[in-house]
Amino acid sequence: MAVVGAGPAGASAALALGGRGLRVGIIEKAVPPRYKTCGGGVLRRALALLPVDVRAAVERECFAAELVHHGPDLRFVCRRDRPIVSMVMRDRFDHLVTEAAVRAGAQLFAGTTVLDVMPGGDDVRLVTSAGEIRARFVVAADGANSVVARKTGRPEIRDVFPALECEVSFAAEKMAPFLENARFDFGLVPAGYGWVFPKRDHLSIGVGTTRRGAANLPQAYARYLAALGLGPPLREERHGYLIPCRPREGMFGARRVLFAGDAAGLADPVTAEGITAGILSGQLAAQAILDGDFAEAAVKRAYREALEERLLGELRIARRLAWVLYECPRLRAALLTRHGRGMSELMTRIVSGESTYRAAVRRPGNYFKLFRRAA
Ligand SMILES: Cc1cc2nc3c(=O)[nH]c(=O)nc-3n(C[C@H](O)[C@H](O)[C@H](O)COP(=O)(O)OP(=O)(O)OC[C@H]3O[C@@H](n4cnc5c(N)ncnc54)[C@H](O)[C@@H]3O)c2cc1C
Repeated sequence: MAVVGAGPAGASAALALGGRGLRVGIIEKAVPPRYKTCGGGVLRRALALLPVDVRAAVERECFAAELVHHGPDLRFVCRRDRPIVSMVMRDRFDHLVTEAAVRAGAQLFAGTTVLDVMPGGDDVRLVTSAGEIRARFVVAADGANSVVARKTGRPEIRDVFPALECEVSFAAEKMAPFLENARFDFGLVPAGYGWVFPKRDHLSIGVGTTRRGAANLPQAYARYLAALGLGPPLREERHGYLIPCRPREGMFGARRVLFAGDAAGLADPVTAEGITAGILSGQLAAQAILDGDFAEAAVKRAYREALEERLLGELRIARRLAWVLYECPRLRAALLTRHGRGMSELMTRIVSGESTYRAAVRRPGNYFKLFRRAA
């Protein structure tokens, strides 16, 4: 068994395959712990899936989520007595899950890049920077620019969310008002949003948009800092990357390869959050391989059914909601003006794992039923 990529999807797949006497290799081009461009906001619904104690990676816990809307100016704060978002730096978080997979028996090939992929009837040949590896199944968890997808002829993911993530510090008194809440701002970034995530000694501030090529993210970021009342930072590190927000077409078509996480395009189109789907899809891929007993058709069927049941239906509803949120600013403003408190509470319930998009659209009388048609 080979897992390509040691992010949340790959590490979770390898962990779920552990302890069963199988030979599992994790092939990772970086040497962990490695920086990953990410806000590092791990939602409660993601943490609930992980059978690993990752508290050592948590820098701050946010018990409140703050939604700020600009034009009209609105602000909603939702609180819980358990953390809604746990803030991590991804190098430490991903490394903890990978270490757990290694303890469960996986072998980590760090600093090893997959260069080519040749699926066959009985196994898959992976050409790597350290030689050839053969595996009965491959879990492709190699992220948004998946080499496995390219080499197996899968089409590019159509909807991506380009995002700019900045690790910034300011004088303590400037950062103080931002240290408690996970903050999300709408109405400043064209067809997207901005966020402020507090870390132990700095802030992760980012902007992202659903419009590839149309929004100038560095400009949007500068406007966002000004709107937050923050001048030039004392220290700043900028990283840009893409978040794939539409399931990859043809992802079930590659022989003996199961795509998971960003490689499969499973991030939530509303929040562009992909850690939950990464963990879940990695686990479902592993379970499908075990349930299907390595028989190709049975494994594929099990994975497709499990993904449909647990994720794809959710993502279809989320996509409709995202369309209103990002493509219909006047409707968004009207809905938030009338129902902002209720909608913020409902989103908080969804990201906390207390509810789902499907449950929300099925509730009689709920405004989320507007997005029901795709359920
Ligand atoms: C700016 C930004 C902010 C974000 N903020 C959040 C957030 O706050 N919360 C959230 O939930 N999500 C967030 N996301 C999304 C989240 O980062 C991803 O959805 C998540 O990392 C997907 O996990 P993954 O395991 O599928 O892929 P990744 O985490 O990308 O892991 C893929 C791994 O594969 C390795 N790899 C790639 N190619 C090869 C190869 N050829 N050979 C071997 N190894 C390879 C990479 O080195 C990497 O370690 C953000 C994304 C961006 C860009």
